[in-house]
Amino acid sequence: MSGKALLVTGGSRGIGAETARLAASRGWRVAVNYVSDQVSADAVVAEIEAGGGEAFAVQGDVGAEADVLAMFAAVDARFGRLDGLVNNAGIVDRKARVDEMSVARLERMMRVNIVGSFLCAREAVKRMSTRHGGQGGVIVNLSSAAARLGSPGWYVDYAASKGAIDTLTTGLALEVAGEGIRVCGVRPGIIATDIHASGGEPDRIEKVRAGLPMKREGRPEEIASAIVWLLSGEASYITGATLDVSGGR
Ligand code: NAP
Repeated sequence: MSGKALLVTGGSRGIGAETARLAASRGWRVAVNYVSDQVSADAVVAEIEAGGGEAFAVQGDVGAEADVLAMFAAVDARFGRLDGLVNNAGIVDRKARVDEMSVARLERMMRVNIVGSFLCAREAVKRMSTRHGGQGGVIVNLSSAAARLGSPGWYVDYAASKGAIDTLTTGLALEVAGEGIRVCGVRPGIIATDIHASGGEPDRIEKVRAGLPMKREGRPEEIASAIVWLLSGEASYITGATLDVSGGR
């Protein structure tokens, strides 16, 4: 296990930051991607290093191909190998009905959440697939319970982007199953992170808590533990599966 290298997109905050910390504590060397919050990314790296782990922060917009290429080149330069990718970076937008959504909004949503995950998966497969001379590896894609529920009246565009992620997991898993790569997904429910405030609803969790099956939101650590388990050898015969970590939602 020692020496394996992992890239976590959107590793500066929320679920990605917890995933980076937990993976590092299990011996992964971690590249912590961020798009704008360098202070938070540096803090995650500092925490990992303080715990005796190895990590570095790497800026890049997953929805911009040049940024993705530069990000993977930085991982190549620093670690010289890649064994895992967590396709975690993702965005929501303001609460809106479909009949209110602009083209600009739809294109941004699909570019970051879908195209970003495809681009990172592409670069990871090029490095990890035995077909390309790699040693194998694992990709974990962050979906959402929204992919099943559709998020009517909130953000059907976001839900649809996560539906696409579920299909990416299914299809890519089969495409590379014989090349040493497992591809899995995780569908979080409502989790306590900044993402709700970024969509203009800082009190969203308070509003929906009573309606959640377990009467509480999830913690980022509860998603990270599922992700890191899927990355591990304990999940060695799991591929193409997306795990609901949504408290029954
Ligand atoms: P968050 O707290 O809002 O953090 C988002 C992270 O993604 C940050 O590290 C951010 O970087 C990064 N990011 C955003 N846009 C990016 C881009 N274009 N390129 C690279 N990085 C980018 O989000 P979260 O709640 O942890 O969510 C993580 C994943 O879980 C997302 O895919 C989300 O859809 C999914 N999810 C979350 C929930 C939930 O309730 N929280 C539920 C279901 C699914 P900066 O720090 O630089 O801004």
